[in-house]
Amino acid sequence: MIPVSTVRLGPEVEESVLAVLRSGVVAQGPVVAEFERRFAELIGAEHAVAVNSGTTALVAAIQALELEPGDEVITSPFTFVATLNAILQAGATVRFGDIRADDFGLDPESVRAQVTPRTKVLLPVHLYGQAADMRGLMTVAQEQGLLVVEDAAQAHGATIDGRGVGTFGIGCFSFYATKSLTTGEGGVVTTRDAGTADRLRVLRNQGMRARYEYVVPGNNYRLTDLQAALVLPQLERYPAQLAVRRANAARLSEQLAGIPGLVLPTELSGRGHVWHQYTVLLPDGVDREGFVDHLGRAGVGSGIYYPRPVYDYDIYRNRPDVVISPTPVAEAVSARCVSLPVHQHLQPGDLDTIAAAVRCALEAS
Ligand SMILES: *Cc1c(COP(=O)(O)O)cnc(C)c1O
Repeated sequence: MIPVSTVRLGPEVEESVLAVLRSGVVAQGPVVAEFERRFAELIGAEHAVAVNSGTTALVAAIQALELEPGDEVITSPFTFVATLNAILQAGATVRFGDIRADDFGLDPESVRAQVTPRTKVLLPVHLYGQAADMRGLMTVAQEQGLLVVEDAAQAHGATIDGRGVGTFGIGCFSFYATKSLTTGEGGVVTTRDAGTADRLRVLRNQGMRARYEYVVPGNNYRLTDLQAALVLPQLERYPAQLAVRRANAARLSEQLAGIPGLVLPTELSGRGHVWHQYTVLLPDGVDREGFVDHLGRAGVGSGIYYPRPVYDYDIYRNRPDVVISPTPVAEAVSARCVSLPVHQHLQPGDLDTIAAAVRCALEAS
């Protein structure tokens, strides 16, 4: 089976983790600090604060903005549930804009339509490794006086107009096992602002600025040196990994071109796509479950990210802090999307197998 994602870390990572084990400093220490420095440099942020998950990164980023109860955050309905859960956990009310069908990120016009006097934060999601429309979204944010938090959990190193995602507002990255860079579980918050970085470090460590000097009720959001040790060697090879993913995406697009009704992902002009996922939209009327089964029988793994808009579950209905309005593009896209393997561990020939399986599954449907 060609898996849609796979974790293969290699001997450098083993050495790096062993060195931490032998050092005796296994909780947060110098390796976390080095990870923060190097990740900030990679994406072009002034400050990076490591935390224990991407979800925690989002919670901490929103907490650092010190919202009042009832303040609103506008986000994308086409995202992993963590985005929504983090907003609720931080005590804010959530509203949803609709997405654009070409980049799967928030549509600036639909965001403008959701703004109320209580709206404080715009929280775009950079899905599948491509930046959302930050030109349009930053214009709306400035015009409406909104703070910006970016969910960049899938987009380490993605750019728009040459600028890294996570540097427009407060950036939130995930280092979960299946993300393009991993610490097993882990996250990073990036910011340009020294004061925000300081608040994040305090929130991460029980609200403590110095020993027993409590400035806010905080939490334990810390990452460990053992976890951070996993990612340092991955950072070295990240540019090469991105080049492979990029070439894989190009090859898939070449081989899948011309299938009637099948919509292929594209790198939009001015955006540096990092190909966390290669996501197609099936032709109208194709049974997705049957298509995925057919791929599986041909030895090709796939994933549905995500099958429904994130608010479209019973637990989020009838809550005063979840304001649901129709998002027709997100509904249509979530009903048709399928992600195919594009990762750097694909073998020569795997891309041909994937493309042949897609053609065969569509002919059978
Ligand atoms: C993975 C992911 C998260 C959450 O990250 P965790 O590290 O799993 O907590 C948030 N948002 C998006 C879009 C993600 O893909």
